[in-house]
Amino acid sequence: MSFCDAHNHLQDERFARRQAEIVATARAAGVTQMVVNGSCEEDWPQIATLAREFPGLVVPSFGYHPWYVAERTPRWRDTLVDWLDCTPGAVVGEIGLDRWKPGLAYEGQEEVFVAQLRLAAERNLAASLHCLQAWGRLHDLLREQPRPARGFLLHSYGGPAEMVAPLAKLGARFSFPGYFMHERKFALFAGLGPAPPFVARAAPACARFSAAQLWRARRNGRAAGEARCSIQLSWLFYARA
Ligand SMILES: [Zn+2]
Repeated sequence: MSFCDAHNHLQDERFARRQAEIVATARAAGVTQMVVNGSCEEDWPQIATLAREFPGLVVPSFGYHPWYVAERTPRWRDTLVDWLDCTPGAVVGEIGLDRWKPGLAYEGQEEVFVAQLRLAAERNLAASLHCLQAWGRLHDLLREQPRPARGFLLHSYGGPAEMVAPLAKLGARFSFPGYFMHERKFALFAGLGPAPPFVARAAPACARFSAAQLWRARRNGRAAGEARCSIQLSWLFYARA
């Protein structure tokens, strides 16, 4: 079985100078692609560098994370467009809304999120979305705004169970980090039937996965191996059928 890590931040300073080692560990565990998400203008060049260093493995993703929106320069959108234009295989993320983080201003988040969602929609690029305690607004904006036809990923989904179906209807796919990998979370999706919309658009090589497959992966120890490789955000969502 091979895996696609649908959302990580390999460029993070926590992993500084250990990227090659982490990539080797991930490859040994069966990870064939990973979507590496930028967070702000400052780290976008590192995303492009990782994509050059690990071609075929790293799917470069560029976006303004809501935590860093206040740091944006007046040219942020143009810079984002430049990175999307000049980086082969680039997708959009991490983008989103956050009303959970203490002290974080909400002002500007919707404007920046919508601008990036529109870019993804115009180019029909996969987009990786972050949302904490803003599910109602996220749903409203997704409903009102153009969305990528291929769908979008809600990474580390922690929203209400009753929003899964309406979000899926708008094109949402869902991913979980390893520490979410327990039956309680999978039960969230029970209402969607045995083949929920877990189709990895960001990683065309990967097809679909079921909760049962993930559960088996965890039981046979593969997830533990992933945890050791320290790509600690979200991983292992899309097992190749
Ligand atoms: Zn993230």
